[in-house]
Amino acid sequence: MSRVAIVGGGIGGLTAALLLSRRGEQVVIYERAGQVGGRVAFEEEGPYRIDRGPTIVLLPEMLTGILEEGGLPPGSLELLRCDPLCRIHFGSGRVLNKVAGLEAQAAEIDREFPGEGSGFLRFMGDMAGLFPRGKASFLEQPFSRRRQFFRPANLALMSRLRAYRSLRSAVGNYFRSEELRDAFSLQSLYIGGAPFRTPGIYTMLPYAESAFGIWMLKGGYGELPRILSRELLSRGVEIHTGTEVEGLTVEEGRCTGITAGGVKHSYDAVLYNGEFPQLEELLPAELFAGMADAKRGKGTRGRIKRGRYQPSSGCVLIYAGADRRWPESETHQFFLPDSLNDNLRELFDQGRISHLPSYYVFNPAALDDSAAPPGESVLYFLIPVPADPGLDWESIAGPLAERVLEDAEQRGFPGLKASLKWKKLRTPADAYKEGLYGGGSFGIAPVLSQLGVFRPQPRPYPIKSLYAAGASVHPGGGVPIVMQGARMAVHELMKEMKP
Ligand SMILES: Cc1cc2nc3c(=O)[nH]c(=O)nc-3n(C[C@H](O)[C@H](O)[C@H](O)COP(=O)(O)OP(=O)(O)OC[C@H]3O[C@@H](n4cnc5c(N)ncnc54)[C@H](O)[C@@H]3O)c2cc1C
Repeated sequence: MSRVAIVGGGIGGLTAALLLSRRGEQVVIYERAGQVGGRVAFEEEGPYRIDRGPTIVLLPEMLTGILEEGGLPPGSLELLRCDPLCRIHFGSGRVLNKVAGLEAQAAEIDREFPGEGSGFLRFMGDMAGLFPRGKASFLEQPFSRRRQFFRPANLALMSRLRAYRSLRSAVGNYFRSEELRDAFSLQSLYIGGAPFRTPGIYTMLPYAESAFGIWMLKGGYGELPRILSRELLSRGVEIHTGTEVEGLTVEEGRCTGITAGGVKHSYDAVLYNGEFPQLEELLPAELFAGMADAKRGKGTRGRIKRGRYQPSSGCVLIYAGADRRWPESETHQFFLPDSLNDNLRELFDQGRISHLPSYYVFNPAALDDSAAPPGESVLYFLIPVPADPGLDWESIAGPLAERVLEDAEQRGFPGLKASLKWKKLRTPADAYKEGLYGGGSFGIAPVLSQLGVFRPQPRPYPIKSLYAAGASVHPGGGVPIVMQGARMAVHELMKEMKP
């Protein structure tokens, strides 16, 4: 039996612990916060409780398949299917439902955008063949060597997935309407990227959304870490909350333990689940190249290049409790301005916040009656903003939230402002304080230079027994994808420990 330390109890760390303990390894989790879950948590006030971070469950089979591989008893969680998947309110006043079923979706598109339904069917048809290959090549295997990534078959697939164009331009092949191009490319915002800058390979996202649906976890995504930690504790996994790991020990090219509370602990392997760019701070400085005074010695000394990473976008979030419901309102809704493209150009190119930006609203009581007290609602508004934690968020966030609430009242939630009983804001400055890289919400940005082989890998350095999983590590952010990355890291770890 190997002893493995996991640094960070985010979804990546918890998933790795589930998979490792299932294989009989002895696992200890160190989490600096007072609870596990990281970004997956609840905001609570009196009778109101709502997810703080993730709300949209995509790729439900990936999520449940990994939990099953980890031995989580069936029935531990309940996924609720959203149909409509979501509703998009365009600046022009048009409203489009994303619905289950290809023919039903094509008809819904034709209702608002006559003649465009066939483009949707063409998109889904093309992607149905490409998605399984893209998933197998880019989501299910690490790239420990560059030549693995640059294999001719991979390059051909990337070209068919339009990796060298932007997501927005890639979907432009299928839709004439700018609004439909927005509807089928705004999914890059789920991982903090601009549709016009995120590579076309992410067409896998809008495809997956329409092919496999949007779901929500009964009780909220925040239930997931609770379910996982209950299972881990029942297996004897140690979870130390309120315990920051201050350093990792590397001896002769192998990671042999961690330091927490000034005390060194030895392990056979360490899996790091914090924000990847912060891993460098935990490693001995002499491992990195460019240290003039680094003594060259055995193992990896002086061989590792320091990384330079671009953070994803940030969010202003409004959490609210209201004393009424909106039965006609869907669980997941997007409210777009006159031109989403111009609006996002302001954000991503100029680092500015538009007077009235786009925003997403989560209204869980529309599907899960128990999400709020009887007859009441909990709501969550997510406004994409620059990650910059240095902006004066104290004076920006309040007025921005007021404009968004006013707009939501006009466009989908009549009587909203008068019904609010509780309201709380969260800004990139809060995210930064809690350790999210650069104040961004989704780890490092999903841009070509940080994708595939260019993203930190599950075995990130030429250091034995050191692994990484999390939103900033290949294959990327979003709960099921992070879980998939943790699975990859565990497979790599097992290969090395038990060849
Ligand atoms: C506002 C928002 C909305 C989102 N919406 C969605 C969505 O709808 N659907 C979706 O699938 N995903 C969504 N996501 C993304 C998703 O939440 C993340 O991709 C995922 O939760 C990241 O998991 P992680 O494993 O990287 O861990 P993290 O959440 O980053 O947690 C890492 C943990 O490690 C701990 N840690 C770090 N360093 C140390 C150390 N030195 N010692 C001890 N502990 C340490 C931290 O305290 C933290 O608890 C959203 C995220 C946000 C912020």
